[in-house]
Amino acid sequence: MSRLTPMAQRVKYWYDIAGTAAERSIAAKESIWVVAQHPSHLVREAWVEPIAVLFGEDPASVVAFMGACRAYMADRLSTMPYKAYLATPEWQETRTAALKRATHKCQLCGATARLNVHHNTYERRGHELDSDLIVLCEGCHMKHHGKIRVAS
Ligand SMILES: [Zn+2]
Ligand SMILES: [Zn+2]
Repeated sequence: MSRLTPMAQRVKYWYDIAGTAAERSIAAKESIWVVAQHPSHLVREAWVEPIAVLFGEDPASVVAFMGACRAYMADRLSTMPYKAYLATPEWQETRTAALKRATHKCQLCGATARLNVHHNTYERRGHELDSDLIVLCEGCHMKHHGKIRVAS
């Protein structure tokens, strides 16, 4: 659908959810942070200097800013509406990893079709532990939600 690289999509995503001018300015800086974080880039520290030059900041404040960005992103992921969270690249990565761990099978009945990644707890939304998630087929997922009251 899009010819953007995964990293560019991620940067665009943070721009798109930024509503206000202030948020956009955070997103702009955050984009740099995303670039700095990306695994295809060698060493994150190697980016501190170029970022410092770009923003006219000293390297120490760039390091502090990276920390603040990380906290900001963690906060956004844990507090944004659940539906919005499900659309984030972070959740897509987490979800894909959960499916892989479960070898693309329902962890209750072993079915391989119509799999859902269900949250056992929302406590660590945005930085879920493996045990916070379970892969369930649609049938098992519905049964599961029939027994306990959970939003998704
Ligand atoms: Zn099942
Ligand atoms: Zn569920």
